Amino acid sequence: MRDVVIVGGGPVGMFLAALLAERGLDVAVWEKRVSPSALSRAIGVHPPALEAFSRVGVADDVVGEAVHISRGVAKSAGRTLGAVSFAGVSAEFPFVASLPQHRTEAIISARLEALNPQALQRGVELRGIDDVDPGHVRLHGRSGGHDVFELARFVVGADGARSAVRSLLRIPATLKIYDDPFVMGDFRDDTGDADDAVIHLEAGEWSSRSRCPVACGVSSCTPVSRWCVRPPTCSPN
Ligand SMILES: Cc1cc2nc3c(=O)[nH]c(=O)nc-3n(C[C@H](O)[C@H](O)[C@H](O)COP(=O)(O)OP(=O)(O)OC[C@H]3O[C@@H](n4cnc5c(N)ncnc54)[C@H](O)[C@@H]3O)c2cc1C
Repeated sequence: MRDVVIVGGGPVGMFLAALLAERGLDVAVWEKRVSPSALSRAIGVHPPALEAFSRVGVADDVVGEAVHISRGVAKSAGRTLGAVSFAGVSAEFPFVASLPQHRTEAIISARLEALNPQALQRGVELRGIDDVDPGHVRLHGRSGGHDVFELARFVVGADGARSAVRSLLRIPATLKIYDDPFVMGDFRDDTGDADDAVIHLEAGEWSSRSRCPVACGVSSCTPVSRWCVRPPTCSPN
């Protein structure tokens, strides 16, 4: 019987698994994807997360690969509206570390592999959870068309926004669906913004609601800029 089975091998699940493995617990991570995601997703890892990463020995690798964003700047029509420095947010990490999320995941995954090569089990999807008796749960999963079962003292749901663990255990959650769609992409950087994160707040003719900026750009990775743009769909029409 395992001490802990973590459902979900995203950054949260793998980080927790590394923490527990460092403390000598027998931990497994069930991840339904067969291979890692290659998407950029996160723009930056913030100082409290970097401090937590230090505890499992991955902060240096993350910080070493990342662009260090030490300032956020808001602009409109070429004019600077304001700037916020991150210099005072943390003595050790006075910046937001910007790197594609798949790199953060690869670094944590390598650390977990070093601590326990068998911990991350890819291609295993959680399907059911039973209370066997007080103190034990039995997990049912599917892997490669076969049923798999595991007994554990604890199960942890780190399986994302539409958590199967939460649904199976009927844990209520207040979900909020945001109206505003965004498109994100990485492009060659010709902004001259260096390592600043820049938010561009521009009103467009199509926008009938003044609260909707048409574009918010974040210059995050040099020489690549990651742009997160709000496309022109916030019109009520
Ligand atoms: C466009 C975009 C931009 C973002 N920008 C930022 C940012 O700048 N900074 C930031 O901190 N965050 C950002 N985020 C959010 C960040 O990506 C998430 O917060 C992060 O991925 C959450 O990690 P997680 O491990 O909790 O969940 P996830 O990354 O969602 O991982 C959950 C894992 O669980 C697995 N899973 C699900 N169901 C099951 C099941 N039944 N059985 C087994 N496995 C299962 C999934 O395959 C997945 O791998 C952004 C996200 C997006 C999409």
